[in-house]
Amino acid sequence: MSELTLEQAQGLLLERIKEIKETERIPLWDAIGRVTAEDIFAKHDQPPFPRSPLDGYAVRSGDIKGASKGSPARLTVIDEADAGHVSKTKVVAGTAVRIMTGAPIPEGADCIVGQEDTDYGEDTVEVYEKISAYENYCFAGEDYKAGTKIIDKGMKLGAVEIGILASLGLREAYVLRKPRAAVLTTGDELVLPGEELKPGKIYDSNLYTVVTRLTALGAEVVRKGRTGDSKEEAAAWIRDAGKEADIIITTGGVSVGKKDIMHDVLKLLNCERIFWKIAVKPGMPTLCAQYEGKLLICLSGNPFGAAVNLELLVRPILSKLMGRKDLELKRIRAVTQSAFPKRSGVTRYVRAFYEDGSVRIPKGSNASGILSSMCGCNCLIEIPAGTPELKKGEEVWIILI
Ligand code: AMP
Ligand code: MG
Repeated sequence: MSELTLEQAQGLLLERIKEIKETERIPLWDAIGRVTAEDIFAKHDQPPFPRSPLDGYAVRSGDIKGASKGSPARLTVIDEADAGHVSKTKVVAGTAVRIMTGAPIPEGADCIVGQEDTDYGEDTVEVYEKISAYENYCFAGEDYKAGTKIIDKGMKLGAVEIGILASLGLREAYVLRKPRAAVLTTGDELVLPGEELKPGKIYDSNLYTVVTRLTALGAEVVRKGRTGDSKEEAAAWIRDAGKEADIIITTGGVSVGKKDIMHDVLKLLNCERIFWKIAVKPGMPTLCAQYEGKLLICLSGNPFGAAVNLELLVRPILSKLMGRKDLELKRIRAVTQSAFPKRSGVTRYVRAFYEDGSVRIPKGSNASGILSSMCGCNCLIEIPAGTPELKKGEEVWIILI
């Protein structure tokens, strides 16, 4: 079977994905990063009443016409209006109400004089500044009016959007449910962190990388597990996980060795193979299938290969499942600060740090089995197939991760 390009592989996966339609109502506290399932309209004006933007005096602009330091307007202070309390006093000619920021503006007043433009008087106040009608005056509904659409369906909720929902008086958000993912790592050599590292064994890092990255991308990891290089065991685990998950991700066992069991696992599961092998490095032997309507993405066990293909293949799937454009792969231009001297036969991804238009390749190997040099990296340089070598100062495409 000939290798697909990354775009072909992504296309074959994405055409099988339908956006999640199921919804749930959740507390605003838990809504960060979730996608709204409804348009949100304001039920009241914000602010609900005209309010003072300053600490000062609520006055009638007609009473302070021409006021200045040399010729102040003198007004009788008849009440105090504090935030959270409604003053029943009416401001009539020659009077002022001492007012605090956020307090409702009393009837009769049409502007606020900031206290720094007065003598801070208690019983009478001298005003040194003329203020026009509706200057220093917050109108009811100036943030938003009742009936206005405030948030569009399909929007990702950040802290500010959650604050807006709270300003509407809502305690809950109506959101799409999260995509459910199951993660299986395979390999007789794997032991879990915390267990003893016996000869021939290595710690399972993929389980942690894949599970935490999926969580960060907005998925709910409903199952995580590990099996040895046993096709029966792996098939049974996937069969079980498929009852719950929208997408199943495995690592290991996709190459051509005797213990590369995932090919047989697909046969045991009796599922449709979508493709095997993509013309990318790392992660060329990625194997993808459809099992009971769900995508089964089998990544290479090499930690860098798994991490890269999680970005290149799984992130776009999550983006489509949640309708989240912000998760789509974004390529930007950057100038290399260091060279990458290897020729690339297929499209190659190199771990790197991006900052201010420049991209730096870390010291250490870019090999697919090496994870440590990826520490702190925030992007992948995409080197097109056939590129002889990358020179310092060259402009390249990168994908932010
Ligand atoms: P495989 O894809 O099963 O041929 O594994 C390729 C390489 O990745 C081997 O050196 C494995 O030991 C290593 N590997 C496989 N799975 C994991 C894992 N979960 N965590 C860390 N390394 C792994
Ligand atoms: Mg293996």
